[in-house]
Amino acid sequence: MSYFVALPVAGDAFLLRRSEHDILVDGGKSSVRLAKALAEHNVDHLDIVVCTHADYDHAGGLVDLLDRTGISVGEFWLPGAWAESLTELLTTPAEVVGDLVNSMEKLVLPPVFEGAPTEFEELMHSYVSDTRREYRAKNGEIERDKPSPSAPDREELEPRVIELPFGVKSAGQAAKAFQSGRSRVRHWGAKRKTREVVATFWLGLIDTAERIRRIAVQAAHHRVPVRWFDFGEFEKTRQAAGGYKDLLIPLNAVELASPPPPAGLSFLVRLTPINEECLVFLSPSENWDLPSFVFTGDSPLGSGVNYSSSWLQWPEDASRRVIATAPHHGSESNFSAYKHLADTVDVELWVRSGGTPRHPGPTYRQLSPAFRICTHCPRRGKPLQAALIHFESGYWWRYPETHIRTHGHFCNC
Ligand SMILES: [Zn+2]
Ligand SMILES: [Zn+2]
Repeated sequence: MSYFVALPVAGDAFLLRRSEHDILVDGGKSSVRLAKALAEHNVDHLDIVVCTHADYDHAGGLVDLLDRTGISVGEFWLPGAWAESLTELLTTPAEVVGDLVNSMEKLVLPPVFEGAPTEFEELMHSYVSDTRREYRAKNGEIERDKPSPSAPDREELEPRVIELPFGVKSAGQAAKAFQSGRSRVRHWGAKRKTREVVATFWLGLIDTAERIRRIAVQAAHHRVPVRWFDFGEFEKTRQAAGGYKDLLIPLNAVELASPPPPAGLSFLVRLTPINEECLVFLSPSENWDLPSFVFTGDSPLGSGVNYSSSWLQWPEDASRRVIATAPHHGSESNFSAYKHLADTVDVELWVRSGGTPRHPGPTYRQLSPAFRICTHCPRRGKPLQAALIHFESGYWWRYPETHIRTHGHFCNC
């Protein structure tokens, strides 16, 4: 039986069962909610667990999934950018946190910041993404230990277990380091109104660093092998590569044989999750009657001003009938993404989950409601419920004679 389900959790978590494999893309905010939702589908083993990026509403449920629940995992697929900080996060978390907090204390702030926290967040995100892009452009000639992504018969790589380095700090020591960083940020932020907005951003950043560390440590302890998918490597050639050809492949990343080396960037720049670099995956169908699935995460599916230049490239033999997750919960910040997908494939159904009442935005809401399903419509306050699509037969939901069924709210966000 094949199905796709947007799990009824806070945040994004999607389960795809295809070719007898169970794939989880993102884990929502909490592993307790996630485990409960997975149990409802009788899933106690996941062949692949993907984390598209480190935001709380995507990665929070993955930090203790194996430690807290009986679920086992075959492989983790993680953002290559995480590996840039991993050794330091493992061995010297206090220094990482210290560097983060220093970068906050050194900021020159206007006496009054009139904007909302989200505006400050946007400012920081564009600073970080520009800095990362410039860095990569300058260091583009550095060759990493990997097969060329454009090699015609790229060999399938073996995922590797993370070996914890000598001198790794215990979970308790690391938690203490993160906690003392938080106290320093709160103390600094309490002094002036302008600083509050900034402090909120930095608290989020420390949480992000801790999530990355915990997911990696958990994978190492449980000896779950990891595949690293790097957006930076993709940006050089715009040629995605890696994954399992018939099951799940990246659309904006290159799988690396070994994780990227630590970059010469501040931890602020290394650790801030950028939507533009959020990983996007495709589960292709070679049967043109059946849908391919696109997991867009929080990605805008493009780059440049307003992300208006699409980088989507569709594999020739993959069905262009597509079921796609709504990028960034339908947020208006990703409005270009809808056009990019529509220019490339035939999106027959959007699946939306997560987000807040300020999601989704007008562009998403202009899509026909007949082609949208939702775990809950935050603007309508619908009860949280799985959005489920069965697709095993030759025909699917659009056809009256179909054996394909959808369950869930038709979306009237
Ligand atoms: Zn999100
Ligand atoms: Zn909705």
